[in-house]
Amino acid sequence: MGSNRGLVHRGSKSWWTGDFKTLCGLVIPAGTGKSPWFTKPACPTCEAAVAARKRK
Ligand SMILES: [Zn+2]
Repeated sequence: MGSNRGLVHRGSKSWWTGDFKTLCGLVIPAGTGKSPWFTKPACPTCEAAVAARKRK
């Protein structure tokens, strides 16, 4: 998928493992260090997933 690094994903964090599962299917392990959950640049796949949810 190339340059997914630096993109801001949407998703949810697992309470028990601490892993962050994104809407585009990535799993970011706990303890990755940074918390790059700002707002830009947004991951288009995650944004599309959020939009799709809202339209339901
Ligand atoms: Zn994403």
